[in-house]
Amino acid sequence: MPDVLPITEDSIEQAVAILKNGGLIGLPTETVYGLATDATDGEAVAGIFAVKNRPTFNPLISHVTGLEMAKAHARFSPLAEAFAEAFWPGPLTLVLPKRRESAIHPLVTASLDTIAIRAPGHSAARQVLHRFGRPIAAPSANPSGKLSPTRARHVADGLRDAVSLILDGGPCAIGLESTVLEIRGERAHLLREGAVTREDLEEASGAPLLEADERIRSPGQLLAHYAPDAPLRLNATTPTDDEFMIGFGLIDGDAMLSSSGNLQEAAKNLFDCLAEANAAGTAAIAVAPIPEKGLGRAINDRLRRAATGSQASP
Ligand code: AMP
Ligand code: MG
Repeated sequence: MPDVLPITEDSIEQAVAILKNGGLIGLPTETVYGLATDATDGEAVAGIFAVKNRPTFNPLISHVTGLEMAKAHARFSPLAEAFAEAFWPGPLTLVLPKRRESAIHPLVTASLDTIAIRAPGHSAARQVLHRFGRPIAAPSANPSGKLSPTRARHVADGLRDAVSLILDGGPCAIGLESTVLEIRGERAHLLREGAVTREDLEEASGAPLLEADERIRSPGQLLAHYAPDAPLRLNATTPTDDEFMIGFGLIDGDAMLSSSGNLQEAAKNLFDCLAEANAAGTAAIAVAPIPEKGLGRAINDRLRRAATGSQASP
């Protein structure tokens, strides 16, 4: 099993040494734990796809220290820069035109002429990025299609010896993946709902977001994803005898997303509750309705994919 180390000068240094050697590490971020490697090292990046069993048409997010490092790899329109200024460091990924001279490996971007990039806010991720000095490619640290990890233990359980070191930054403060926003000139298209809500983005830009149309739909946004081990029933108010119930607000459960109906708390607990349901080993899982507003939209997006994924798997 991998070393799971608390965040110290020493463990950060070990993590950076592994990255410099083309290795993979488990890295905490404010969204979920990442499986991180040097974004400019093709062999190292190939390791991510192999370990996760992730299809290579599904591009990875490159993580940077901030706008300055990002500008070496992506072209920022004034609107793109305004979003970065407003939300970085933080859980917003921008999809932008990739610079030809960028050293980021084509495997990271699935050979597209765009790149997905963000500056994470978690202090351990920031320290690693600053010391490493280069962009880090990092998808979530779980086998492709399974639940996203929000604790170091989830990473160790899911990936086992495929990583030698996991930095333990505690439970992820947000617990949901970043929002993915593609900027084309002065237009913003929402590719994936996430930790930064549509309302936040529209308030910052002063204009409504555009939907991702067929032409610019994000690759890798698979309908079946985040699959728990048992079938998942959505919008449930009362569980059947063989269901593990995940409650919210006034609807009680074996595990609670948030007793007070708080969406932020529910986002933080989402993958944890699903992992708990897996561990309980019931024949089925049910989850209470979540309001379709603010963070609730991203939570419902993950739940719908989890429900589809759980039907698709044996
Ligand atoms: P994950 O690493 O699983 O959080 O997924 C990152 C997601 O970002 C991918 O599944 C894509 O949907 C999206 N993405 C990454 N790069 C690009 C890109 N160049 N163009 C459009 N979407 C992208
Ligand atoms: Mg993922």
